[in-house]
Amino acid sequence: MKYIGAHVSSSGGVENAPENAHKIGATAFALFTKNQRQWVSAPLSDKSISLFKERCEKYGYSAAQILPHDSYLINLGHPEETGLSKSRDAFLDEMRRCEQLGLDRLNFHPGSHLGKISIEECLDRIASSINWVLEQTSGVTAVIENTAGQGSNLGHTFEQIAYIINRVEDKSRVGVCIDTAHTLAAGYDIRTEEGFRQTFQKFEETIGFKYLRGMHINDSKKDLGSKVDRHDSIGKGLMGVTTFEMLMKDSRFDNIPLILETPDETIWAEEIKYLQNIQN
Ligand SMILES: [Zn+2]
Ligand SMILES: [Zn+2]
Repeated sequence: MKYIGAHVSSSGGVENAPENAHKIGATAFALFTKNQRQWVSAPLSDKSISLFKERCEKYGYSAAQILPHDSYLINLGHPEETGLSKSRDAFLDEMRRCEQLGLDRLNFHPGSHLGKISIEECLDRIASSINWVLEQTSGVTAVIENTAGQGSNLGHTFEQIAYIINRVEDKSRVGVCIDTAHTLAAGYDIRTEEGFRQTFQKFEETIGFKYLRGMHINDSKKDLGSKVDRHDSIGKGLMGVTTFEMLMKDSRFDNIPLILETPDETIWAEEIKYLQNIQN
């Protein structure tokens, strides 16, 4: 079963996200559980939490269909102690919000070295941050998203993600989310059948599908290996439809949230319908 949706708005409260997802015919959704551009947000109210759970049940969204995304400010590989501890505290708060909402995974970008420490040192920091947070939480998996490799952002190669996972103590609570636009920009040619097959064979060999907890389904405005992160609507960018057809017909992507982060939200319902229809 394919769960397909979009990163919907939770403005006015997290409890609005399930309704926003239902309105566009989604069988999955992503959301921010707090303002993604602020370090600190008010705690979730009991009312928000119970309404969120109630509406998820009403519209048929289980935890396996929901992929919360963390704040863009967080850098779990931050080269400086103050930035690192601020990021860890904020990530812990986000993991706890997921626990409160009955969610079982939290998607995040691994981190950036900012040109101040080596790649390896930064990856080690990210792994320690994950260990630190997992020790203090339960039931929520930390889901590492692959990046385009823009600037000093790490996690653009499968090897870097595997390096982090290898250093996480509780492997049952670490996972991966693959973003198709980031994958192309990072240099993996998933535009052709052959390229798609080879890329995901490499993914299986380097990381393993057993860690896959979600996908971001985006077309890309930027080309193969550009290292630039610019999403486009499905079929309007440089990806081509083959990528999406291959993905939707492949059972290795079943039973996880497949999330659109495409720029034109007025056509999300159409994009979801399109993806549903190319499954067979
Ligand atoms: Zn992301
Ligand atoms: Zn993404």
